[in-house]
Amino acid sequence: MTLDSGWFTERCHEGGSAFSLRLREKLYQEQTPYQLIEIFETEFFGTLMTLDGLVMLTDRDNFIYHEMLAHPVLFTHPEPKNVLIIGGGDCGTLREVLRHSQVQRADLVEIDERVTRVAEQYFPELCEANSDPRAHFHFSDGITWVGEIDAASYEVIIIDSTDPIGPAAGLFSQSFYSSCARALAADGILAAQSESPLFHLELIKRIHQAMAAAGFRHRASLHFPQCSYPSGWWTVTLGSKAVPLGGFREIGGRAFSTRYYNDAIHRAALAAPSFFKQALEEG
Ligand code: SAM
Repeated sequence: MTLDSGWFTERCHEGGSAFSLRLREKLYQEQTPYQLIEIFETEFFGTLMTLDGLVMLTDRDNFIYHEMLAHPVLFTHPEPKNVLIIGGGDCGTLREVLRHSQVQRADLVEIDERVTRVAEQYFPELCEANSDPRAHFHFSDGITWVGEIDAASYEVIIIDSTDPIGPAAGLFSQSFYSSCARALAADGILAAQSESPLFHLELIKRIHQAMAAAGFRHRASLHFPQCSYPSGWWTVTLGSKAVPLGGFREIGGRAFSTRYYNDAIHRAALAAPSFFKQALEEG
């Protein structure tokens, strides 16, 4: 990351590319035991949060990521009552999860409490559901949490993690997916943020293989644009123990509005580009 003449720039070494945002000012900085949190006011993307110099979210485009992480998996499960979110300390995914009236309990397990406290201050709209009585916060390591929770505790687990480095590296492993499979009910579904198809195809192949080996019979990656993440193209990968991933509950049952997600987007996001399909078949 560099700050140069009023611009924030994130360099993506594996993609040989960079993404810049014009800044107004730096609002906050804190080194926690886990990472460096920085908050900036940008010229056109509103407030920006970075962790260790990498973009986590901006006001302008976080709705796409949070809606695609929460709604496809929740509308695919027939009756998601208990939901676990790993990471996601900015609370945007939690807000989307709690829009679903079937959800009776949402546990958010974030390793770094400071991410949530800083989000409460700088992204209050993402935190507007934090006082919902169904929301339960646990500030600890998601890997330990899932390893120790009773079997069949959740219908849906959502992994809203940072990139596969540092404390998040284990959130992409087969042993972690196996713990998730155990923590999920027989019809449970896992949704994991799974990086860029253009820059991280090998990682996505490994995610599919590891989910399959962990007992997720059905797997599918959903594609969507996310201009502030490397390459501007992102995925969420679903793993389901039993429920097929092509079908989902359509708009009739929805009592809330979304800005990006809808039935057609859900169907379109499941369509795999040819190179992607081929890579997964080879894998
Ligand atoms: N998907 C967004 C991105 O990649 O830009 C990430 C949003 S969210 C802020 C990611 C969160 O995962 C961070 O707050 C980080 O502290 C948390 N995290 C990383 N490893 C974790 C772990 N092992 N257990 C729980 N939370 C973890």
